[in-house]
Order: sequence, then structure tokens, then C-alpha cells
Amino acid sequence: MKIVVLGAGVTGIATAWYLRKAGHQVTVIDQREGPGLETSFANGGQISVSHAEPWANPQAPLQILRWLGREDAPLLFRLRADWQQWRWGFAFLRQCTPARLRHNIRQLVALGNYSRATLQALRAETGIQYDQQTRGILHFYTRPDAWRAAQHAAQLMRDAGCTLESKSAEECIAIEPALAPQRSRIAGGTYSPHDESGDAHRFTVELAARCTALGVDFRFGTAVETLLPGEGGSIASVKLRLADGSTEQLNLEGCVVCLGVRSAALMRPLGINLRIYPVKGYSVTLPIVNPQRAFTVSLTDDEHKLVYSRLGERLRIAGTAEFTGYDTTLTAARCDAILRRVSELFPGAADTDHALLWAGLRPATPSNVPYIGGTRYRNLWLNTGHGTLGWTQSCGAGAALAERISGRTPAVDFSFCE
Ligand SMILES: Cc1cc2nc3c(=O)[nH]c(=O)nc-3n(C[C@H](O)[C@H](O)[C@H](O)COP(=O)(O)OP(=O)(O)OC[C@H]3O[C@@H](n4cnc5c(N)ncnc54)[C@H](O)[C@@H]3O)c2cc1C
Repeated sequence: MKIVVLGAGVTGIATAWYLRKAGHQVTVIDQREGPGLETSFANGGQISVSHAEPWANPQAPLQILRWLGREDAPLLFRLRADWQQWRWGFAFLRQCTPARLRHNIRQLVALGNYSRATLQALRAETGIQYDQQTRGILHFYTRPDAWRAAQHAAQLMRDAGCTLESKSAEECIAIEPALAPQRSRIAGGTYSPHDESGDAHRFTVELAARCTALGVDFRFGTAVETLLPGEGGSIASVKLRLADGSTEQLNLEGCVVCLGVRSAALMRPLGINLRIYPVKGYSVTLPIVNPQRAFTVSLTDDEHKLVYSRLGERLRIAGTAEFTGYDTTLTAARCDAILRRVSELFPGAADTDHALLWAGLRPATPSNVPYIGGTRYRNLWLNTGHGTLGWTQSCGAGAALAERISGRTPAVDFSFCE
């Protein structure tokens, strides 16, 4: 089939790869000048099945209220006169029950395990390199009450099939010796030995090059304007705006939407209402100056809701969540809070005077569970809404959707959309 993939982030590129491997003729379209330049550009780098606890949980509403108005809060709702934001917020509240939490964790762990295995197979097949580390993820806690409270979600993840080992402070330091100066502050941790990390942007660029070698056609600098329905409940073509301002109508046999935070707006005129809202996050990337003091195991810092990955000679620290529309301006207070925390935990490890600061928009659904699967149009599919876990889920989501489009049943127990 002639399939057009809309969006060249990590999700779109992985989808194009698996569709091409399944024998389809694939064209990828993106408004930017190359692959992976939006949310997939400088994320936290974690391939984290163990990050399957959604933001929506029974404690979240109270916690969010407590953080309201605090500029450096890990999760900050800026209430706006935006109907989409309010609708998303109400849907989020409905996901905060114990039953929904259990269901969503089960979905995310199943997809995460499948996706990590799919990435490992891809690495073995292609030899792709992207500053990957395969030493697990250590989630550490500095507040004993937070450590105790985390046990419930950890057990739900274990029940769903995630390998998650409880660790004492001593054991945390044995796993990552760079944490040794913080010995007295660590209350405990959980370690997922099979999780990984790596540079999502580098991966996306490398995989796109391999797609080109397999015959995938790329059209960068080309914006998608509308999808035009045809006969018999299908999509006939896509209207594009080219870099010189002219328009083009491209006929298609199949179409996959991987437009991240822009997916919902494209789907709305077709009567498909996706609950995807942008959630802004930040990252800082620092050159390492003292490797002895720098971490190599990927870390999650529970108190500050930050993730840490070593990407070759660089440290990437990312996190925080701000519901503030489509704005990607860097807020000084948030960047400073991250830099302060890195200097406090790993003093002298990296050069904070040469920090690369970045903000991106997570395409978040209220449940954290993405949209993967078909729509009411027989040749229109979705692979979007990956929120906090798009890098983790990219290979699995791409491979599973390619299987479904090719008429096969993927080997993952996930509630695909119809
Ligand atoms: C601070 C931060 C930290 C994160 N850390 C992690 C992590 O550690 N692990 C993890 O798994 N995930 C993490 N994530 C989430 C992850 O980065 C995202 O889920 C993922 O990048 C989404 O990829 P995507 O391809 O769906 O979207 P994108 O990368 O945004 O790609 C969408 C593409 O569509 C294109 N596009 C949009 N509109 C149009 C249009 N009209 N026409 C043409 N092209 C268009 C864009 O140019 C873009 O290239 C993090 C996110 C943030 C913000």
C-alpha cells in the first residue's frame, strides 16, 4: 500500500521504518527541515517501562492544587480561557480513580515491555548507535514519606509485569556510586535493571537515514493543512503547503497521523476528537567535566520529578510539567531550578556555564495511554498522544501499528483504538 506518514518525530520515523519493513511504499511528511526537531529533540532520554505510573492517580488532584501558582512546581497548571484545556482537565480527573490507575498502568507496562524488546531487536539487526546505556534506571527518593507512598504504584507495576526491585540507600549507591555524597539524604529507591537510556534525537536521525536507504521518501519543509475525505469512508488525499507558500494535493492509499501535539487540530474537522493537550517540559544538556562525579546509570529524582541520562560526554536532565498551551518560551525560574538541583546532587560533574536549555511539548492524553490504531476512516490510522513516554514507546507503537495495517495481530496486549 502507498502510505503517507504525517510527522517525522521519533514516533513517525519508527512507524515509517516498520511499515517499510512490512513491504509498504512510504512517504514521510514534516514541516521542519529534518527529523526529530520538535518534542523528540532533547527529551530525558529514558527508555523507561518503570515510568508507567500516570500523572492521573488518586493523589494527583490534591497535589496539583498545592502546587498551583508555584513557578518552580514540578507540575503546574496555568488555567487559561481555553476550552480544550478545561475539557482535558475534566477527563484527567476521571482517570484519577484507583481502578483507572490500575488499568492504565497495565496498558503502559505491556506497551513499554514490548517496545523496549522491539528497540533491542532493532539495535541487534541494524547496529544503530545513539549514545545508549543499558544499565537500568534507578528511581531514588529523598523523602521517606514519598518513598513509602510510592510502594503502592510500584507493586501495581510489578503485578503488570515490570521488573522493579526495591533498594536501600546503600544499594542505590552501589548501583550508582556518583550518588555517594548524597548518602545521608537518600531514603530508598526502586531499580529497573532492564530499562535503558539514549539520545532520542540521534536515534531518530539515524533511523531516518536507514529508512532512506530502504527507499522511504521524505518531504521536509512541507506543512500538512487538511485531510480530504473520499468515497466509502476513506481519506483520499492530504493538502500540503510547501516551503515556497504554494499548495499541493497528494493522493494516498493510507495515512498515519504522528503529529504529536498538532494531531488533535488536524483530526477535529474530520469529527475525530482526540484528547491531546501540550504539556511543556524542560531539559538541560551539560558537557561533563569530571567523569568520576557524573552518573552513568539513568536516574529518576522523585522529589524534583527530574530524569537524568548520560549521553556519551554529556549529561541530560529533564522534567517538570507545565499546562500552558503551545508556548515553548524558556522560563528562567524553571531552568535555574534544574541547574541548582544538578549542582547540588553532582557538584563539579558538569559545566553548568555551558548548559543547552530546551523546552518541548509532550502530546499528553489524560490517562497517559496513547492513541494507536484505526479510526472511523478505513485507511486513516493514529500513532500519537505518547505524552511522557514517546521515546520509550516509539519502536513498539510503530511495529504494532505496522502489523495491524498489514492485517496481522501484534504480539502485545494493548487496547488499540478502532
Ligand atoms: C522535557 C521532556 C522530557 C521527556 N523525557 C522522556 C523520556 O525520558 N523518555 C520518554 O520515553 N519520553 C520522554 N518524553 C516524551 C517524548 O519526548 C515524546 O513523547 C515524543 O518525543 C513524542 O514524539 P512524536 O514523534 O509523537 O512527536 P514529535 O517529536 O513532536 O513529532 C511530531 C512531528 O510532527 C511535525 N508536525 C506537526 N504539525 C505538523 C504539520 N501541520 N505539518 C507537518 N508536520 C507537522 C513536527 O514538526 C514534528 O516533527 C519527554 C518529553 C519532554 C518534553
